[in-house]
Amino acid sequence: MYETVIGLEVHAQLKTKTKMFCSTRNDPEESRPNINICPVCLGHPGTLPTINKKAVEYVVKVGHALSSKIAKHTKFDRKNYFYPDIPKGYQISQYDLPICEGGHLEVLGKKINITRVHLEEDTAKSIHGASGYSFVDFNRASAPLMELVTEPEMTSGDEAKSFCEELQRIFQYLGVSDANMEKGQMRCEVNISLKKKNNKEFGTKVEIKNLNSFRAVRDAAEFEEKRQEALLEKGEKVIQETRGWDENRKITYSQRLKESAHDYRYFPEPDLPQMELGEREGIPTKDIIDVESLKASLPELPKQKLGRFKTVFGILEKDADILITNKETTFYFENVVSELKGLLKEKKEDIYTEKTKAIIKLAINYINTDLKKILRETNKKISDMKMSEEDLAELMLLIFEKKITSAAAKTVLAQMVETGADPDHIIEEKGLLQLNDAEEISKIVKEVIDKNPKPVLDYKNGNLNSVQFLLGQVMAKTKGKANPAVTKEVLEKLLL
Ligand SMILES: [Zn+2]
Repeated sequence: MYETVIGLEVHAQLKTKTKMFCSTRNDPEESRPNINICPVCLGHPGTLPTINKKAVEYVVKVGHALSSKIAKHTKFDRKNYFYPDIPKGYQISQYDLPICEGGHLEVLGKKINITRVHLEEDTAKSIHGASGYSFVDFNRASAPLMELVTEPEMTSGDEAKSFCEELQRIFQYLGVSDANMEKGQMRCEVNISLKKKNNKEFGTKVEIKNLNSFRAVRDAAEFEEKRQEALLEKGEKVIQETRGWDENRKITYSQRLKESAHDYRYFPEPDLPQMELGEREGIPTKDIIDVESLKASLPELPKQKLGRFKTVFGILEKDADILITNKETTFYFENVVSELKGLLKEKKEDIYTEKTKAIIKLAINYINTDLKKILRETNKKISDMKMSEEDLAELMLLIFEKKITSAAAKTVLAQMVETGADPDHIIEEKGLLQLNDAEEISKIVKEVIDKNPKPVLDYKNGNLNSVQFLLGQVMAKTKGKANPAVTKEVLEKLLL
C-alpha cells in the first residue's frame, strides 16, 4: 500500500595531510585532544583561510568515478549557525555551486542517481563528560569533509546499505578516504519517507543520524519504514524531524526539528577566491586543478575489477564478489597472482595455460575461505600477516603439484600467517611432504586394516561408508600426508 523512498547524505573525511583551510595536520587517529590546532582552524579574528588543493582534487576524483559533471566554476559559502563545535560561528561549505553535480552508482543491479558532491570543513568534537561539564576537542575542526547527496531513489534498507558499502569501496580504491564507519570517517544519514503507491507526491521525510555501521543504515531504515507506516495507517502525520538511532534498542528516536536552508543564511565566503576548475589561463601553475589528468589517473574501480576477474581468471561472480569486498584482500590477491606468474616464469613455464588458471582458482578458494577463517580466529587483518604474497603463491603451486595434501596445506598456511616462514621450510620441518608412493601407503593401509576388523567386516557386508572411516584412520596415522586418491585406491584394492 505504501512505497518507501530513501535518499542518502554521506559525509567522508578526506585523507589529506593538512586541514581544509590551514596547514595544521589532519590526523583522525590523534587521540590527545587539541593537539592539531592553529589560530585559523580555531576561528581567531584576523586570520584568513586558504584552500587545500589536494582536497579539491580528491572530490574531483570522486566525481569522475561516479560519472558526475565537474563544475568549471565553483565556490565556497558560509553556512551560519552557532554551536560550540564550530568556533567561527559558521561552517565553510558549498551551497549553489558544488564541485560535482549528477552522476550515478549502480547498486544491486539498479542505477541510483547522485545529486551532488561538495566539499566543506568538519566540525570539532563535543565530548559530554560524566561530571556534567562538556568539552570540545578541536583536532577535527576544519578537517576536509566531502558530502555526497543522492536522489531519493532507493526503496529499501538493503539498497541503502549496499549503496554505502559500494561507495566506501570506491573511496578506499581512490585513496581519498579510509571511510571507516566505526571511526566516524564515513557518516551516512538516511532520509526516508513513505508515499501511497502510484502517488507522485512524496510524504514527509525524516532524517536519521548517528548511523555508525552499514547494518545500522539498513536496520534504521527498516524500523522507520514500519514506524511511519503505523502512523499513516492510524491517520496520523509524520513530523519532519531529525531522529537518532539507538543501536542497543534498535529504534529511532526524535532529536530535533529540522532547520530549513534559509535558516543558515548562506552567502559566498568572502575570504576565499572562487575556483575555476580545469582552467589554465591566468592561473598560477601551482593552483591549477587539472580535471582531465585527474580523470586519467583514476585507478581501476571495484566494478571494473570484478568484471576483469570474471573474464580474465574465469572465476564465478560470487567468488569475485567476495574478493573485491575488501580492498586489502583484492590487492593481496592480485599480488599473489603476479608472484605466481613470476614463479612459473622462473621455472620456464608458459603462464598462459589452464594450469595457471587452475592455480589462481585454488588461490581464490584459499584466500576466500581458509585464510579468512585463520584471520578471523586469530583476530588479524591482512596487513598484520607475516606471510608474503610470494610464499602464498608458492604454497598454491605445491598444492597443485600434489606435493602436499589440502589437509596439510591448512596447517602450513596457519603457520605461514603466524611466522612468515616459507612453505618449503615449514613442510620440511613438520615432515608434511605428501606421501604419493603406493607401496609405502600400502604398508600403512595394511596396519589400519589389521587394527580395525569391525569396519572392515562392515565394508565387506556392503556398508561402503566404512571406507571413509578407514581412510580417516590412514590420514590420522600419516598426519594428513597421504595422497587421498592413492590411499582410497589402495584401500579398495586391499579390501577386496
Ligand atoms: Zn589550523
